[in-house]
Amino acid sequence: SRNLLMIPGPIEFEHEVLQSMSSATPSHVDPKFISTFHHSLKLMKEVWQAPSGQAFIVAGSGTFAMEMAAANLIEQGDKVLVISTGYFGLRYAEILKRYTADVDILEAEVGDVVAIEDIEQQLKTKPYKLLCFTHVDTSTAVLNDAKAIGELAQKYNVLTLMDAVCSVAGEEIKQEEWGLDIVVSASQKAIGVPPGLALLVASLKSIHSFKQRKTKVQNYYADWTNWLPIMKAYENKEASYFATPPVNLIIALEKSLEIITAEGLEQCFERHRKAGKAMRAALRALGLELVSKNEKLSANTLSAPFYPDNIDGTNFLKSINEQGVTLAGGLLHNLKGKYFRIGHMGSVNQNDLLATIGAIEKALQKHNHQHNLGAGTKKTLELF
Ligand code: PMP
Repeated sequence: SRNLLMIPGPIEFEHEVLQSMSSATPSHVDPKFISTFHHSLKLMKEVWQAPSGQAFIVAGSGTFAMEMAAANLIEQGDKVLVISTGYFGLRYAEILKRYTADVDILEAEVGDVVAIEDIEQQLKTKPYKLLCFTHVDTSTAVLNDAKAIGELAQKYNVLTLMDAVCSVAGEEIKQEEWGLDIVVSASQKAIGVPPGLALLVASLKSIHSFKQRKTKVQNYYADWTNWLPIMKAYENKEASYFATPPVNLIIALEKSLEIITAEGLEQCFERHRKAGKAMRAALRALGLELVSKNEKLSANTLSAPFYPDNIDGTNFLKSINEQGVTLAGGLLHNLKGKYFRIGHMGSVNQNDLLATIGAIEKALQKHNHQHNLGAGTKKTLELF
């Protein structure tokens, strides 16, 4: 039988979402599909909590969503400050540089965030156009304080760009209230749709900044000049064409966003908070340490524990896999082979957590790691 997929994306998708994708593919100008696209754009603004924002749904992975924002916002020499909390912060810096931004990077220690005071100090040194950060860095399971960063950027009149690939629909985000200009994501994580959708909501301020460009966007497929009329058309329940949308994935997106909003955003975030807390406590109860330094900056969508000393990571993950649960290795180059990652987002429930912790306990036992068998599952039961 199939393994339970507990990696930080793609995740286990709801049966209803998968089923919705398997119908015959309609035309992208079919009235029913126009209504699906329209509704998905509307639901995105609810989930991002950006009622006056502009939503974009485009075929591509999360990296393309990152790239789309960079391509449309950056002109030669624009000053950008990137706050990096791991692998994906550094990736964003690379993308921004590719579009000829003048990038400064403030890099956190592994497992930590950059202090708000340090970001403020840096903002004082020059007139940045853009402040870029990762909400949850999937390489470290570190959660940035998006509200505090958004408010700080507003104080210095700097546009904000948040990589929320691993957080939308899993961690609380109030894009508009927190003053976040662009929040990019992808389908395959907490949003709960198979990989392939680049999703983004842009503030009117950032759209305005885009419209002030003096030079052409240096990427044809990403150019909002091409995409804005398409999104506007679907918002007005009209058909329009620039490039063929991934019809079945958008049908699945509508279904998944309906499931998320039917649960209620607050309930959804609370379930993720509980899952994160239970997972971290269970791992600690088994004697495993986490990459993220403390509870306050730990993400609730995934956890990143170190392997116990004297256990070979590859064999350990293989043993967990044999217990029916698939987990992911580490992603940070300087900690290669030292830690692993567990995704717990989307429709994650108590059974998923228990199966995962149970599999880890069995694998620990197999590798002769001293622990109280059942200590992790007990914690999970107590806390979830
Ligand atoms: N940013 C973050 C925080 C991510 O977790 C990921 C995917 N792991 C990406 C960006 C890139 O997304 P994708 O793999 O879909 O291109």
